[in-house]
Amino acid sequence: MEVSASNEAMAARQDKFTMSKTIFERIIAREIPANIIYEDAHIVAFMDVKPMAPTHVLIIPRKPIARLEDVTPEDHAVLGHLLMKAPDIAAQLGLTENGYRLVINNGQDAGQEVPHLHVHLLAGRKLAWPPG
Ligand code: 5GP
Repeated sequence: MEVSASNEAMAARQDKFTMSKTIFERIIAREIPANIIYEDAHIVAFMDVKPMAPTHVLIIPRKPIARLEDVTPEDHAVLGHLLMKAPDIAAQLGLTENGYRLVINNGQDAGQEVPHLHVHLLAGRKLAWPPG
C-alpha cells in the first residue's frame, strides 16, 4: 500500500512536471488567450495574468523546458536569444530608461508554479531587494 501510494505521488509529480501540457504550451498553441506582446521562432512574451508590478511580462522559450536542470547543450542558443531579446521587449514597453528586473523562479523553493522555464520581466515601480 505504502509503495503504491508513493508511486502514485511520483506519477502525479511527473505528470505535473513532464507529461501533461502546461498552461504556457497552451498559450503558445493559442489554445488559451494571452496578451502576447512579442514572438519569434524561438520565444514568446506575454503579459502575466496576475501582475506583481505595473508591468509584468513572461518571456518563455517555445520549447517546453521544465526548469534549468533540463536544459541541454542544444538549448544554448535559445536561452541566449531569450536573454538578448529582453532589452528589446523592455524598449518596446518604454522601460529602458528606468530599468526592469528579470527573475527566474527555478524549482519549488523559488516558488516556480508553471513547469515551463520562464523569465519574469518586472518594471514600473521601485522593486525591493532582497526579494521575499
Ligand atoms: P512562477 O511562479 O512559475 O515563476 O510564475 C508563473 C507565472 O505565470 C505567475 O506569475 C502567474 O501569474 C502566471 N500565469 C499562470 N497562469 C497564467 C495564464 O493562464 N496566463 C498568463 N498570462 N499568466 C499566467
